[in-house]
Amino acid sequence: MSKNTGWNFDNSYARLPKSFFSSVNPTAVRSPKLIIFNHPLAKSLGLNDGPLRSEEGAAVLAGNQIPEGASPLAQAYAGHQFGHFTMLGDGRAILLGEQITPTGNRVDIQLKGPGRTPYSRGGDGRAALGPMLREYIISEAMHALGIPTTRGLAVVTTGESVIRETELPGAILTRVAASHLRVATFQYVAKWGTVEELRVLADYTLRRHFPDLEANESRYLSLLQEVIKRQAMLIAKWQLVGFIHGVMNTDNMAISGETIDYGPCAFLDEYDPETVFSSIDRHGRYAYGNQPYIGGWNLARFAETLLPLLHDDQDQAVNLAQAAISDYMEQYKSNWLAGMRAKLGIFNEEAEDESLFENLLTMMQKYRADYTNTFSALSFERYEDMVLFGTTEFAQWNEQWQARKERQEESKAFSIQLMQNSNPALIPRNHRVEEAIEAAVQHGDYSVMEKLLDVLSNPFAHTSEQAVYSTLPAPSGQPYRTFCGT
Ligand code: AMP
Ligand code: MG
Ligand code: MG
Repeated sequence: MSKNTGWNFDNSYARLPKSFFSSVNPTAVRSPKLIIFNHPLAKSLGLNDGPLRSEEGAAVLAGNQIPEGASPLAQAYAGHQFGHFTMLGDGRAILLGEQITPTGNRVDIQLKGPGRTPYSRGGDGRAALGPMLREYIISEAMHALGIPTTRGLAVVTTGESVIRETELPGAILTRVAASHLRVATFQYVAKWGTVEELRVLADYTLRRHFPDLEANESRYLSLLQEVIKRQAMLIAKWQLVGFIHGVMNTDNMAISGETIDYGPCAFLDEYDPETVFSSIDRHGRYAYGNQPYIGGWNLARFAETLLPLLHDDQDQAVNLAQAAISDYMEQYKSNWLAGMRAKLGIFNEEAEDESLFENLLTMMQKYRADYTNTFSALSFERYEDMVLFGTTEFAQWNEQWQARKERQEESKAFSIQLMQNSNPALIPRNHRVEEAIEAAVQHGDYSVMEKLLDVLSNPFAHTSEQAVYSTLPAPSGQPYRTFCGT
């Protein structure tokens, strides 16, 4: 292994109690080929392009070689999937270790699709190329939109097939995350570990993500409050941009506040709170409009795990947890309102703002207006193309909105600028994502995807090229469906 790749591993997770993980190496693949490499991310991690992209370097990203200093392991967790509690764990992911970046940051380097682990149950531990490209594209788009997220460092194809409904090309994604601590990590230790182990996990989490809270007298309550705060922020950002995660199971909620585990996720086109894209979400549990409530439900499961640490008296512990949880909705709401004000060029706060926003959304739903394009059009006062803008309802609402903006000190130019900086020109449109994946998977043509990544990398630029990418697909008569990332 050449020394100049820049890997600089520490393995703090591997020093935690043995029951928290299983040491396991990736299973070598036949013929690894590096097909995507994230240069800016690599650079920020202190990794060197040239050596990493060499055959030797790519062998690491395929799991064929263990980099010096790494201590590969699969993490144990247990959580609620569609409301049902079950034992889980990294069944198709292996943590190589934590890269210490040149600025002293600690981030997880995880291979997704590296072969079986003790938590694989009936699965093969492998991933198909299409879903790994999907995760790569959407997480880069989220990052560019300013939404906390894990990111992809690289994708390699394995030269092997995976068997799903059909035979598909296999791939491995290298995922970079603040950590892979999940609500489900806490659920696992709370259910099967000792209170001492739970304290070790909570202290580890505090040290890793919330060092400022470590000295607090009631540091476990602070931990709960901070995780709530970050999720209230994150989910408001999802709603404001029209992102639907698709599988908000407790194993897919990161303690760090990053968006994690991109499976059947997708963005809203026309505004409808009941929108569900995932084929496995038959009852709409994870519909767009439910995401804020599911966030609260998951956080309540997190709070339950912390009860033994919150207070010696469990009645008091429950009271503390409940108070923290009941803050969540308020925080979510105030983040969402702040975001909506920015989307509509409003600087100050008025009590009636919420109904102004709700009235717009109601009209958008009635006239099946595209979520992203509506706000983009409002930002540029482009009122030609959409049915909504020709209605008398909109004309009335518009009068109220203009009057509302008169009741602030900032100029109209400032207000427009705020809107243009808050409303993306485009999101990863489902048909564009599919088109990019299809070209790559069917024809080995990565140029479509590279072009898409390029236009998505600066979503607030509002270039004419982006306008092309923001158009909607021709109606197919079929609702768009996504399938779980396997
Ligand atoms: P997910 O739906 O990606 O959140 O995964 C749910 C659980 O199933 C996790 O414990 C995964 O590690 C596991 N899993 C998903 N796909 C596979 C696979 N192909 N092989 C083994 N385990 C898997
Ligand atoms: Mg998961
Ligand atoms: Mg997953």
